[in-house]
Amino acid sequence: MKVISSVKKFQIIQYFSYFYTLYFAMSVGRQKKHINPDKLSEIRTIREGLLNAETLSQNILKGDTTSLSKAITLLESTHKKHQKEATALLEKIIPKTGKSIRIGITGVPGVGKSTFIEQFGLHFIRQGKKVAVLAIDPSSPVSGGSILGDKTRMEKLSSHPNAYIRPSAAGSTLGGVAKRTRETIYLCEAAGFDVIFIETVGVGQSETLVHSMTDFFLLMHLTGAGDSLQGIKRGVVEMADAIVINKADGDNIERARRAKNEIQNALHIWSPKPGNWLPPVLMCSAIENKGIVEIAQVIDSYLEEHKKSGHFENKRKAQQKFWFNQALESQLKTDFYENKTVKSELKNMVKSLESKNSNPFVLADELLKKYYQRLSENT
Ligand code: GDP
Repeated sequence: MKVISSVKKFQIIQYFSYFYTLYFAMSVGRQKKHINPDKLSEIRTIREGLLNAETLSQNILKGDTTSLSKAITLLESTHKKHQKEATALLEKIIPKTGKSIRIGITGVPGVGKSTFIEQFGLHFIRQGKKVAVLAIDPSSPVSGGSILGDKTRMEKLSSHPNAYIRPSAAGSTLGGVAKRTRETIYLCEAAGFDVIFIETVGVGQSETLVHSMTDFFLLMHLTGAGDSLQGIKRGVVEMADAIVINKADGDNIERARRAKNEIQNALHIWSPKPGNWLPPVLMCSAIENKGIVEIAQVIDSYLEEHKKSGHFENKRKAQQKFWFNQALESQLKTDFYENKTVKSELKNMVKSLESKNSNPFVLADELLKKYYQRLSENT
């Protein structure tokens, strides 16, 4: 008897909950129809307020990483309204930036960058610092995907409350991706991050961009290929403030030692860097967490020396000029190609270039003249 009554009880409860759900759904539907327009605009304001420069800057300065992520999304948006808000946000936070150490890291895929950054990041966190990891991925403008800065590659670091990992910025050009990463550095600094890693893998251009936004540039290298710097562009080696030979563990230790000596000798022939800094060659095993502290010490002494001599400030000033020029060039280019006259003339000119007798220089000159004429007519 007892069993039957509990089954009945259960059925009654089921019926009640069914009718209650139905009633609730209907009442929500009714409420939606009669929603107060003032309330609706309030909801919209709150929602948009989350992407509002004032709210975001206040939250970022408190170290709120959710707002930091929202602000980065705002920077990456191509929406005109968002771009305006992003500019306003940067203006508000830039005075609070500049206090972090910016470390650039490059190396071929598989050299161990993410394994190393995880260990290195945790080292700084143990010292009470906050660490951010950003990436410039030269493949992302093409593929839209990201092969760097991936959270899954740095599990321990990404789950730490004092770390923030952001995959490569979105963008249609490498320059655009780099500009956003540069601006993201500002945001991370305003949010209180003390150490910022900017990771890249590339064939020259992305390294140059990372070098132009960092204080210290680290080149990661593997043993092999005759244990020399073979395969690495000279320009990339010249940018390095230190070269780290990773995977110096197990059977590889001896080879790593040989590579270290060989590279060290090769570097002696090159002209020294500002402040007479001779880039040291270090060995490490990211997987065994060996050699990490020594690399941190090298960076510390580099910063100490360069801050004392004024080279640190000079480098940052030169970087400001670089980004100013980059911004000017990219804006001029955009304005030019978006100009109506240019748009309509360009197609015909490109077609006429196919003719044997056309002179590309004269045509380019002609197009520029038409562009300037259009500009003067509009002013
Ligand atoms: P990335 O592509 O440069 O970011 O390289 P990863 O950090 O993803 O590492 C590539 C592979 O090398 C992974 O299988 C790692 O486990 C391994 N690896 C990374 N660092 C070391 C190391 O110090 N020693 C050894 N033996 N393997 C390592």
